Amino acid sequence: MNPFQFTRVTTPKAAISAITKERGTYFLAGGTNLIDLMKREVIIPERLVDINKLPLATIEKTATGLRIGATAKNSTVADNELVKKHFPLLSQALNAGASAQLRNMATVGGNMMQRTRCPYFYDTSMPCNKRSPVQAGVDKGQANGPSGCGAIGGHNRMHAIFGASGKCIAVHPSDMCIALVALDATVNVSGPKGDRTIPFIDFHRLPGDLPQKDNTLQPGELIMWVDLPTNRFADNSHYLKVRDRASYAFALVSVGVGLDIKRNTIQDVRLAMGGVAHKPWRLTAAEEFLKGKPATEANFKQAAALAMQGAKGYGENDFKLTLAPNTIVNALKTATKTA
Ligand code: SF4
Repeated sequence: MNPFQFTRVTTPKAAISAITKERGTYFLAGGTNLIDLMKREVIIPERLVDINKLPLATIEKTATGLRIGATAKNSTVADNELVKKHFPLLSQALNAGASAQLRNMATVGGNMMQRTRCPYFYDTSMPCNKRSPVQAGVDKGQANGPSGCGAIGGHNRMHAIFGASGKCIAVHPSDMCIALVALDATVNVSGPKGDRTIPFIDFHRLPGDLPQKDNTLQPGELIMWVDLPTNRFADNSHYLKVRDRASYAFALVSVGVGLDIKRNTIQDVRLAMGGVAHKPWRLTAAEEFLKGKPATEANFKQAAALAMQGAKGYGENDFKLTLAPNTIVNALKTATKTA
């Protein structure tokens, strides 16, 4: 690991100032992904700014729902009584992620900022457009190496079936973010140009021609908190994660679902999928189809078929074209207690 400077800050203003001042500066929260990236020299920071002392670890009720601070630990959020009661989908998704030890360290903001687990991204001897973008001078602080995409035409069992580009077919690895997209969360960020609110669905981005950019944060911006609006989904929600082993594995496919049901008719529904795209993948066509319909397996199958329109496999991950719709149907059956 290369030497780096270390600074600890106690106010958001100091954090933003520190990261804006010098290139190659990264925020350090739980460090559960960043330190791995540094050890493997995928990222070579000049300076780390420890933000764990910022007053952003609270979980509090607001007039419109719940506010979760960016440095709240994943395990704290998952175990919070308000989260479990009103947003069980979020609690389930968090508990499906990583291991208990990692959840005790990882933060909400860090979870959002974690990088893909594409193996080519972590191997600096392999081509990867995300780690080593072609454009000179972009993303200084990232290791050099050959450019291209090792996964296209290579090992791509874990990779995307939606929204990929000719430059990158990686997937976003978070479970928590699938729940937050399904629950219509918003993200509050603060930066050198002021504060702004980003719909969670717009926080992460598709790879396009800039696969090195995972999200829509501007330089120097700090994630402050996530707001969850009140909903009627608590009684009928479920996070279903399909993975290679029962613990500590990233999703092959996951589905987060929340429904508002009255007399077996779906009044409202939210659906999002993980393990299938460079960002949490919201299933809006399936949602629209299900609204006003009875909660039946036949309707769930039709919704799943709609959700799969435009899906494309890359060889080793072709099995996801079958696994994904089956997972949608099973998640809906469990959430509606029709399984
Ligand atoms: Fe790199 Fe993306 Fe290709 Fe993986 S899929 S090798 S992260 S460019």
